[in-house]
Amino acid sequence: MRPLWVDFHCHLDLYPDHASLVAESDRERVATLAVTTTPKAWRRNREVAAGSDYVRVALGLHPQLVAERASELLLFEKFLPETRYVGEIGLDAGPRFYKSFADQERVFSRILSACAEQGDKILTIHSVRCVGKVLDHLERSFPPGRGVPVMHWFTGTAAEAQRACALGCYFSVNAQMLTSAKGAKMVRALPQDRLLTETDGPFVDFGDRPSRPRDVGETVKQLASILQSSNEAVNELVIANLGALTRFVSP
Ligand code: MN
Repeated sequence: MRPLWVDFHCHLDLYPDHASLVAESDRERVATLAVTTTPKAWRRNREVAAGSDYVRVALGLHPQLVAERASELLLFEKFLPETRYVGEIGLDAGPRFYKSFADQERVFSRILSACAEQGDKILTIHSVRCVGKVLDHLERSFPPGRGVPVMHWFTGTAAEAQRACALGCYFSVNAQMLTSAKGAKMVRALPQDRLLTETDGPFVDFGDRPSRPRDVGETVKQLASILQSSNEAVNELVIANLGALTRFVSP
């Protein structure tokens, strides 16, 4: 059955009740992309989501973990043929992770090349303080037609947003991004047919607890107010966008 909601970036395996979140996504019909941060988590995540109609698992190697986990690149490449969804991957130039930036670039570039070579991949990408660099890598190593990049928690400039669109990117937006005037303005400038919703739980809170996939309805409301549209219209748009995205690279 068609999903009712879309959470295109949530770390289900970082909650104590991973399996019940999968069941909840099925019950509430939330199309949830369960992102992972290390290839070592892949098998377990796939097992937990094995019977699910609404949860898909992405194979990831988080840029913030590259300093300790770069050696898992081989494992990443081994599992890559088993999945269409990849992430969380990307680059992080924030002060805490800048030391590993050269390694991050090497890993990200290898991942993009492997994805491009295999084709039919949908990527969820982190780009903290280095949107331009991320786009440089996409331009170099991930030609449109080999898959679709989704910029997660995008904070780039208007010019960078345009460049990302030209590279075929989608954008998954969360509650926290939409609370600032700057974030709202940026999202308003994005093409509506490239918008998706995400929670980025458990890293974004909902009230006094980490957000769960079913909370994404709140983000739809925020988005509707920013786009001066109705909740229903925005939700329809996001579901249609997910449909277009997932068919895009299908045979
Ligand atoms: Mn994340």
